[in-house]
Amino acid sequence: MGDVPHLSAYIDGMNPPTNRVRVVLLTQAIGPLDYRLPAGMEAGPGCVVMVPLGPRKLPGVIWDDDVFGDQAVDASKLRPVLELLDCPPLGHGLRRLVNWVADYYLTSHAAVLRMVLASSAAFTVSGTIIEYRRTGFEPARLTPQRAAALDALEGAQGLVRELAAEAGVSDAVIRGLIKAGAFEPVTISVDSPLPEPLADFGAPKLNDAQMVAADAMVTAVRSGGFDTFVLDGVTGSGKTETYFEAVAEAIRLGKQVLVLLPEIALTAPFLARFEARFGVEPAVWHSNLRSTQRRRVWRAVADGSAKVLVGARSALFLPFANLRLIIVDEAHESSFKQEDGVRYHARDVAVMRGRFEGFPVVLASATPALESRHMVTIGRYKGLEIPSRFGAAKMPEIKAIDLTLDAPERQHWIAPTLLKALEERVERGEQSLLFLNRRGFAPLTLCRTCGHRFQCPNCTSWMVEHRLVRRLACHHCGHVMPPPEECPECGESDTLVACGPGVERICDEVNRLLPDARTIVATSDTLWSPEKAAEFVSRVENKAVDIIIGTQLVTKGYHFPELTLVGVIDADLGLEGGDLRAAERTFQQIAQAAGRAGRGEKPGEVFIQTRNPNHPVIAALVAGDRDAFYDAETEQRKSAGAPPFGRFAAIIISSEDEREAIEAARAVGGAAPQVDGMYVYGPAPAPLAMLRGRYRQRLLVHAQRSVEVQTIIREWLGSVHFPRSVRVGVDVDPYSFL
Ligand code: ADP
Ligand code: ZN
Ligand code: ZN
Repeated sequence: MGDVPHLSAYIDGMNPPTNRVRVVLLTQAIGPLDYRLPAGMEAGPGCVVMVPLGPRKLPGVIWDDDVFGDQAVDASKLRPVLELLDCPPLGHGLRRLVNWVADYYLTSHAAVLRMVLASSAAFTVSGTIIEYRRTGFEPARLTPQRAAALDALEGAQGLVRELAAEAGVSDAVIRGLIKAGAFEPVTISVDSPLPEPLADFGAPKLNDAQMVAADAMVTAVRSGGFDTFVLDGVTGSGKTETYFEAVAEAIRLGKQVLVLLPEIALTAPFLARFEARFGVEPAVWHSNLRSTQRRRVWRAVADGSAKVLVGARSALFLPFANLRLIIVDEAHESSFKQEDGVRYHARDVAVMRGRFEGFPVVLASATPALESRHMVTIGRYKGLEIPSRFGAAKMPEIKAIDLTLDAPERQHWIAPTLLKALEERVERGEQSLLFLNRRGFAPLTLCRTCGHRFQCPNCTSWMVEHRLVRRLACHHCGHVMPPPEECPECGESDTLVACGPGVERICDEVNRLLPDARTIVATSDTLWSPEKAAEFVSRVENKAVDIIIGTQLVTKGYHFPELTLVGVIDADLGLEGGDLRAAERTFQQIAQAAGRAGRGEKPGEVFIQTRNPNHPVIAALVAGDRDAFYDAETEQRKSAGAPPFGRFAAIIISSEDEREAIEAARAVGGAAPQVDGMYVYGPAPAPLAMLRGRYRQRLLVHAQRSVEVQTIIREWLGSVHFPRSVRVGVDVDPYSFL
């Protein structure tokens, strides 16, 4: 081995050759590899490069030498880096964040870096892109496919591939339509600047409590440095207006801000509010962006010209040039936890990013996560409170309806008291919200004759009837089928019955009992795009709706001043699950739903339907005693050693073959290390024993905080050999216990 000059350089105690660089490829299966910088190429950690691998040319990022162990590849065998790409190198803080996420969530650097370089913008030189849009011209003779595509693409714009996907036709159909003159090209410049928000455009006058909270955040932004705030204000207290002051301060300093929101549906009203406050819409980042928009935003974030980015959790990994503040709005939301790919919690990663890059992070919520409150209690985070609603608005009055005493009719779900309250609102021209966290018409369909239940062929779950679109759907894998005419088991027709209510069924009930009321169902099935959400908001604001029937989607962030009544159809539903956060989640959901009532001048009223009015969660909600609930729940977690006092990690082992999954899980169980303060439960079939056609076994690790769970699990799983067809996933700090 060895080419003599380099070897002698080591022997003489000189510096090792500095043209060796370690590159993390974006391909998960391949670990970091060493390359050599060709003469004349200057590049260091964070630079995005193209490197050769076999006959291929792949993107990667030069990484810090000290992160991975040594590699024994001799300097003379190193292949050269091919190209240094024209994008700003990833900063030191972001690289530390990538290291931390890979370590903490037991994943690869490549998987995390793919979220950082989430757009081909990183790999292409700036310039222009051609999109297409309709001209208004209709070719005389149209094939049915072309006609359907024209219909579907009214008002749309995008790349050929995107238009084809949206219309559900092949690229060739779109190309044919372009040739025929039905679509015209539009040139988009990827580097055209985004509009700049104006810090003082529409600044409101804050009340005293808002001012105190705003000052603390503004000061932190001005001085820089890491700090975490829990902005805890009741629903309607004006948290958004308050943290906008901190956003404004960052804008004044010429720095960047990231606002994370839990659902895209929320962005419609939020964007309008942002524009009223800062004069322009912010840049946005979510999975529905067209690829040209993605590229433009990615580049503007990377070169620092996008001052404020509002995004879904994936925005957290973008390579901001000079980030000075992250706001996590509705920070208690479990949708900040990603459940596939890299299983990270955006709230926690946001805090780490602030720490590594040295800026404040704000977690805003009316119902903070128990973990966040605990951090305030022990002094790690700073608590900021806004205890009352803004202006004249008062908190709504909350009452329980005992369903055992005040029972709805058979096959009905709205108790007489709630029905009467709804009726009064309709008469007075006020609006109401009925909350039930179940999509579709009925959660279960069965045959009255033989008892057959419709189960998903791919998952351990029932098929849910969606009557609006006439089909049964699995909410876990998306499998759908038309509602069958007859029972597949006994062949009888007309014997299928829907069991239990979903929002669609409640809507039916309202339509029957209050035929004059105008209703709308609001779930992820009906509000699946920012446009649909915006349409929903404007219908409610224009008073074209009397009663909204919705899932947890409508309990977040919406501000409808004319809404004065909230009815919780089944408060017991969430408490039945029995997982770690069942009580906390139910409390948060009902408090958030209740928080939609009485936000304007008219007082709000909330009815909670339950069979168990004495349950601590219900009792605390009725008494308006949040602290009582949190204190009791904290005690319970403490005595169980549950988060935040202890920690969990789930190991999920799956295979298309049931035996293979069981054997692999046994092997993992058998190799479990004995560690003080750590307990391993299982293996056992996961609660969702089959998902998307794969059999799933689960082990649950429960450990004291002092145990280095990640290191232990990494070594443990590394010691077990798995067949290629077995998948092993680790969920650190799991939210879903399915
Ligand atoms: P939260 O997010 O805490 O539930 P919002 O931020 O939605 O509350 O505020 C509730 C309503 O009060 C909104 O319409 C908001 O614009 C208004 N509001 C809050 N603070 C102010 C203020 N200082 N000046 C004017 N309007 C305000
Ligand atoms: Zn049957
Ligand atoms: Zn399924």
